Amino acid sequence: MTKVLILGGGFGGVRCALDLNKKLGRESEITVVDKNGYHLFIPALYEVASAYGLKRDPFAVQLRRTICMPYADIFSKTNVNFVQAEISEINLVENKVKTEGNMILGYDYLVIALGSETADYGIPGVKEYAHQFKTLEGALFINKKLEEMSQQFLEGERTELFSFLVCGGGFTGIELAAELGCCTKVIREECKIRGRCSNITLFEAGPKILPAISEKERRLIKNRLTKLGIILMENSPIEEIGSDFVKLKTSQSVKGDLIVWTAGIKPVEFLKSIHGLPTGNTGRIKVDNFLKVEGHENVYAIGDAIEFNDPKNQKPIPAFAYVSVDQGKIAAQNIYNSIKNKKLRQYDPFHNVWIIPIGGKFALAHLGGGVLIKGFFGWIIRELVDLKYLLSIFSLNKALDIFFNDITIFSKND
Ligand SMILES: Cc1cc2nc3c(=O)[nH]c(=O)nc-3n(C[C@H](O)[C@H](O)[C@H](O)COP(=O)(O)OP(=O)(O)OC[C@H]3O[C@@H](n4cnc5c(N)ncnc54)[C@H](O)[C@@H]3O)c2cc1C
Repeated sequence: MTKVLILGGGFGGVRCALDLNKKLGRESEITVVDKNGYHLFIPALYEVASAYGLKRDPFAVQLRRTICMPYADIFSKTNVNFVQAEISEINLVENKVKTEGNMILGYDYLVIALGSETADYGIPGVKEYAHQFKTLEGALFINKKLEEMSQQFLEGERTELFSFLVCGGGFTGIELAAELGCCTKVIREECKIRGRCSNITLFEAGPKILPAISEKERRLIKNRLTKLGIILMENSPIEEIGSDFVKLKTSQSVKGDLIVWTAGIKPVEFLKSIHGLPTGNTGRIKVDNFLKVEGHENVYAIGDAIEFNDPKNQKPIPAFAYVSVDQGKIAAQNIYNSIKNKKLRQYDPFHNVWIIPIGGKFALAHLGGGVLIKGFFGWIIRELVDLKYLLSIFSLNKALDIFFNDITIFSKND
């Protein structure tokens, strides 16, 4: 029986496993390995970070449930096996993978879908003092800080403004800053504070946020940020971060109670240790047009971990969840085709659509053909996209259950 091993149960890995299961069923042994027991719905991390007004819950069970989707549920009615383990070695010559705890897993086909990690660009203090925003724990930490802040105001222990410093004016930084803006407004009202209770500053190193979007789109986003009281500092490259400050290359220093780093990603460090894995300048895995790892006939790589230039403009494709999902589909198709001795399918990247939530029930959606939808209807589209994803990995009932539960929890501060 053909053994397919998928490393990483993120957006790419899960799609690849489910598609292979549909195509091959019991004809093959499909195994997904991930260090966590749940698939993390990363696009809603900012909602978890800023969810406010929930019942006291020391273990944050309610919040965890919103974005942690157990693999046991996702693969329950399939033939996909799941192994929870951290991968420590990949031997591309012997077709073997080793995990922490010394489990050895063999394969005929391997899919590397290990995602990315936070890039600090070597800036002093980022690792030590800035809060990383890519994991469940990261989002829960910010949430806890908000709770602490509101308690301090309620009990009269704090009178000065709480300062949030968000470092990185990309999609992630903007959506987090905006949602914090909405959330702190609710806290202010609840704590009966006159005026503001916080300052939220968003730093962008470059001359403008999101350089790839149009001027009109940028203006809409900036107007919304201004309305939410976010202080946007463009042209502000960071030189150093300390326990309670961000120092800019212009020598200006800004004091902060919570510093969050949202300035970029890089491939997981672990890839560097894999002997014979071809990587490009950025450290990402080099793949061909079929998403096969260069020089390895039975190894595919997908998602944030790969280096792939769009043949239409020779520019790197962006790291989006739906891009990883598309690649998961292609890898599954090509493994199937390869097993059945059929021609492989070329990957034709599609990545020109984006939706950015900008605080509360407001989003800007850039759809196909340059159609732009903003405000409440933009938010509705974003919600529908999330629902579509849930329906693609769960049964109708389960998907609707998660969807409405999330809307109820996340709308409390809108
Ligand atoms: C805060 C934030 C918000 C985002 N919002 C959006 C959005 O709104 N829309 C959008 O399209 N994209 C968004 N993205 C980008 C999107 O999340 C990524 O592009 C997508 O998750 C990449 O999918 P992937 O399958 O490559 O990796 P991931 O989804 O990151 O999955 C990688 C998996 O590998 C596992 N793993 C890693 N190393 C090991 C190891 N050594 N052993 C075992 N398991 C391991 C991880 O646990 C993880 O489950 C966002 C990203 C961030 C950080």
